[in-house]
Amino acid sequence: MDSGPIAVISDVHSNLPALEAVLSEIDRRGGARIVCLGDIVGYGPEPSACLAMVRARAEAVVQGNHDEAAGGDGALDSFAAEAGQALAWTRRRLGEAEKIYLRSLPLTAQVSGFSLVHANFFAPQSWGYILKEPDAGLSLKFLPARIGFFGHTHRPLVYARKGKRIVREPLSERPFSFSAGRLLANPGSVGQPRDRDPRAAFLLVDPAAETIRLVRVEYDHRRTCRDIRAAGLPGILGERLALGI
Ligand code: ZN
Repeated sequence: MDSGPIAVISDVHSNLPALEAVLSEIDRRGGARIVCLGDIVGYGPEPSACLAMVRARAEAVVQGNHDEAAGGDGALDSFAAEAGQALAWTRRRLGEAEKIYLRSLPLTAQVSGFSLVHANFFAPQSWGYILKEPDAGLSLKFLPARIGFFGHTHRPLVYARKGKRIVREPLSERPFSFSAGRLLANPGSVGQPRDRDPRAAFLLVDPAAETIRLVRVEYDHRRTCRDIRAAGLPGILGERLALGI
């Protein structure tokens, strides 16, 4: 089994400057295999370019709720108003082959002993969020591997089982050891961070050392904001990028 580093990216959301900055940073650090936890599209102005780049670079991709919605033709009323508007716009922009790709993405994947999912391991297609320790506990029960990666909340963190308790731990550039016990980790979001840090986020996993670290990368969010307006997408989707919300 290849034990080289793995970069975990998630929630790119059609933000090309953010994705390019993350891929450059991965290469600058010596390269890594790349896996993607879904929501390649939605919200942002560059769905096709992001899709092509993720398909070219990631060895495994799971489906996010925005991918499912953009690739399909179902009602969008379960989404917040701006998200629904952006998804309707994305559907008009994508070609049929791109939609078929998004529709056919798997909900879960296993890569080198790690489990991948967008929302949760308990009922992936429900798109239910892991927001608190009990949600994490349920997903840890259904986790196929010892270590699982999930996205969807756009907030980087770890939920680890410590005896009977589930504890929530922050992530940073300092290596975080996963040598003991079961654990869920979220890489945060490449294209729409929501932890009040506007920098793009991803995880670097070192399978040999059994550590993960969070990497943050500056990117030109003003460019994405301008492109969001120019595309006729809701302006708030650009303004929130400067605040990391
Ligand atoms: Zn998302």
